[in-house]
Amino acid sequence: MTQALCFNCGSYKFGALSICDDCGAGASNNQDISIALTDHFLSWEQLDVYADIRKRIKVIEPDPEVGNWAFVHYLANPPENLLVAEIPHRFELLISALLKQLKVPIAGAEVIYNRKLEIERANRQIAQTNSPKDVSL
Ligand SMILES: [Zn+2]
Repeated sequence: MTQALCFNCGSYKFGALSICDDCGAGASNNQDISIALTDHFLSWEQLDVYADIRKRIKVIEPDPEVGNWAFVHYLANPPENLLVAEIPHRFELLISALLKQLKVPIAGAEVIYNRKLEIERANRQIAQTNSPKDVSL
């Protein structure tokens, strides 16, 4: 049985051309895209990455047509280059803004911790500079 990714919502479904249980969407108008998003062509790790991307696009972009094109654009460009697609001109600006938002890294615990250390270090330096010991007569 083929495990496939729903093009419309990023949920998993059985069969590339089947209806998605979660959103009710069928296959993409371009069947090549639906077939590409299966475990025949992609590893589980890749499918998980694409599922995550598709879900995040859906959260950011309320218009399903723009969201679908943004996902196609993502898959058709480096580093993915999974398919060849021509994005309609009228969507290009919207899509590039949307994909920029997707690339903004979310600060993880490590980043926050390092930033905290940096601030503490800076504060200590200020405290030392201002300490009475530094005032020599
Ligand atoms: Zn779906």
